[in-house]
Amino acid sequence: MPTRPFFGFAKPKLTYTLIQETEIPDIVDIPEPKRTILLLTHEVEEKGEGLTIRPGQEVKTGQKITCGEDSRSYLISPVTGSVSHISNYEGYLGRVYPAISVEVQEDQWDEAFKEELVASGPKCILNYLALLPGVQDPAPVLDAQPPLHTLVVSGLDKDLLTTTNQLLVKTHIEALKKGLSHLKGITRVERILVVVPPTLAGLLEDTGVEIRTVTPYYPNAFPRIIMKDVLGITVPAGQPWEDFGVSFLNVEAVVSLSKALDEQKLPVHKILTVIGKDSSRTHAKVRIGTLVRDVLDALGLQVNDRDRVILGGPMTGHTIHSLEETPVSRDTDALMVQDTNSIILSENTPCVNCGECVRVCPAKIPVNMLIRYLENGLFQEAVHDYDLLSCIECGLCSYVCIARIPLFHYIMFGKHEFIRMKDAEE
Ligand code: SF4
Ligand code: SF4
Repeated sequence: MPTRPFFGFAKPKLTYTLIQETEIPDIVDIPEPKRTILLLTHEVEEKGEGLTIRPGQEVKTGQKITCGEDSRSYLISPVTGSVSHISNYEGYLGRVYPAISVEVQEDQWDEAFKEELVASGPKCILNYLALLPGVQDPAPVLDAQPPLHTLVVSGLDKDLLTTTNQLLVKTHIEALKKGLSHLKGITRVERILVVVPPTLAGLLEDTGVEIRTVTPYYPNAFPRIIMKDVLGITVPAGQPWEDFGVSFLNVEAVVSLSKALDEQKLPVHKILTVIGKDSSRTHAKVRIGTLVRDVLDALGLQVNDRDRVILGGPMTGHTIHSLEETPVSRDTDALMVQDTNSIILSENTPCVNCGECVRVCPAKIPVNMLIRYLENGLFQEAVHDYDLLSCIECGLCSYVCIARIPLFHYIMFGKHEFIRMKDAEE
């Protein structure tokens, strides 16, 4: 399996949107929802079978809901209310998750987390890490063996126009400091460093936190590039950075962890960057499970026929098809509305071998060759001959493709199918 050296990033130089040190950004509180949809953390084969909650039953805020014997598939209810129905939610790449609709009532808190915290101490938060707002999928394993030696906390969001984590560096510095100190105590990791753009470094100067800045060119906020540029470690294709004793968390996750330990309640709100049709940004505080339609309506953002709503940022997000049935999840960092006139549609044009995708790829993948395999469903060959697993999922190849081939989505689908085939073999 070829493993190409990182990184030959040439052009274009896309720049992250930056929150300035002197800027005082607002956070808009989105009204508490009347109905929510709760999604389990992992897709399951038998949709909804084995759920520990059924229609007609009541849930409390903070209550753990699991699904069958698959201990990875669970959630913490962000609301109190009555379960109206359970259906299947089809997410990105056709993944199917049980979706629990809840008619929301006034919060009543389940005490299980508080009791566990009192009985076992702060380390118990690691059992809930995958459910904290801001933790990306898959959640890192912070109590790994052999133990981690470095934890990187990212204050620069991965995608363009998205400023959720920068905002939290700006507005929640005390919670961030506390969270970092909790993490040090809980994980005993030797080194915790916070990565921020140069514009926010001054805010952390007197905090005693180790700071590293990254040049705010896309995709410098991606973990594999931070590994190379900041830590000087090249992670081979398909290998997790945890194998090198390093893990990553977003600032929002650290702030959530701090709040959970201080308030003895698991946080149930998420901060989102909402990007309008003119690329304007609003930061919103949203109850997890709130429907995308309710967020957009509260912000007065109109969506017309043929406009597009994207969960995530412009480079790596994906289009959603029902605003009424798609909820904000704990790992939703951005929501973007695109006007129909500014949408560049993908086409069925064949590759013209211009080589732009190869030149721009930070992992130096021969994308023009890779795509031929992926279009023909040759996923194993794509991994072995053309280094599919070296892809860092930045979307730059799609961005530059003059034939408008949806390269990024082919790549994501190829990876998904390869992993599914490998799991089936085991
Ligand atoms: S998404 Fe495209 S440009 Fe980015 S690393 Fe993967 S193949 Fe290369
Ligand atoms: S950018 Fe598009 S058209 Fe050009 S070589 Fe790559 S896949 Fe082919």
